[in-house]
Amino acid sequence: MAFVSDSYHSPKLELRRVNHREVGVFATRAIRKGEVLTISGGVVVPRRKVWTLPRGFRRFCFYIEHGYYLAPSSRRRIGLGFYMNHSCAPNAGDQRGELALTAVALRAIRKGEEITCDYRPALDGDDTQYRPLLRFRCRCGSRRCAGLIRA
Ligand SMILES: [Zn+2]
Repeated sequence: MAFVSDSYHSPKLELRRVNHREVGVFATRAIRKGEVLTISGGVVVPRRKVWTLPRGFRRFCFYIEHGYYLAPSSRRRIGLGFYMNHSCAPNAGDQRGELALTAVALRAIRKGEEITCDYRPALDGDDTQYRPLLRFRCRCGSRRCAGLIRA
């Protein structure tokens, strides 16, 4: 699979199949806490436009704030940062552990570990238009697993 000029990912990461339907991002080498893992570029899209995208593409869009989402630039150019799976106990994200344009390692990550982030958006007062794109049952196994995720 080929990646892309508008996003960055650490050379210590690769995409792997996690089952017959899904892929995830994995560490090919040990990663130190604080290392930059991905920088996701794309197109900033208002909420009403996100809902016009094909469903399979919509899942790659993530919420920024103020009713705007980041979508990959095209269906052929989807950076590794968009492929990270959700965990309620993530090992990557911004400093708060949320999905972010720049994702860093929140702790030391072992070779072979899956890279995960928290899909649940941090909503603030400007986010009255927020409507979840994804709704799924989380199986991250964390003690603090939220169960049903809306992201
Ligand atoms: Zn969970």
